[in-house]
Amino acid sequence: MARKLQRGETLVLASHNPGKLREIEALLRPHGVDVVSAGTLGLPEPPEDAPDFVGNARIKALASATASGLPALSDDSGFCVAALGGDPGVLSARWAGPAKDFAAAMQQVNDRMGSNPDRRAWFIAALCLAWPDGHTESFVGRVDGEAVWPPRGDKGFGYDPMFVPIGATDSFGEMDPDAKHAISHRARAFAQVLASCFA
Ligand code: IMP
Repeated sequence: MARKLQRGETLVLASHNPGKLREIEALLRPHGVDVVSAGTLGLPEPPEDAPDFVGNARIKALASATASGLPALSDDSGFCVAALGGDPGVLSARWAGPAKDFAAAMQQVNDRMGSNPDRRAWFIAALCLAWPDGHTESFVGRVDGEAVWPPRGDKGFGYDPMFVPIGATDSFGEMDPDAKHAISHRARAFAQVLASCFA
């Protein structure tokens, strides 16, 4: 039985990524939870040195929960391309470099794919809820689709402009936030957080 968040508890959002914060706040909004971001509390960003999404999500959530004394929700996510053996994957943020240049990161993905006819791609999000005593609950969501070129749209963040989910014609970068939230990897993981950890 998963541990539940108690009513009235403040939840720390253990992310410094504005795109993720915007989406997680929107997902939480209907549920009346008070949230504060790790950046607002001045919490440090721990090194993400686990080999997988769940491991990195645990590192981030535990760092914020133990430093703040509050439950904390983290997101570790990435863009995976079949023709690249799942890269950039856990290194998705790092492919954009210190300047967070996602136009360059998308260009690199496209260059490495070359003319490979296999365009399959997917996003994964691991969400971890951690408590100050070290207890964690982790959930994973995924959305499948294809990598497109050139990138399209400016509504999302990261690799959104070069991803079209199965069954859609718009890229994530062209979709309104509600349309992305209806199917995204993050929303799918969040639905599990809600079902398991919200009273
Ligand atoms: P990390 O979880 O901090 O390692 O960073 C994940 C990176 O994956 C982000 O900086 C984005 O580049 C990418 N990413 C994760 N989720 C999304 C998404 O929903 N849309 C576009 N890019 C994403």
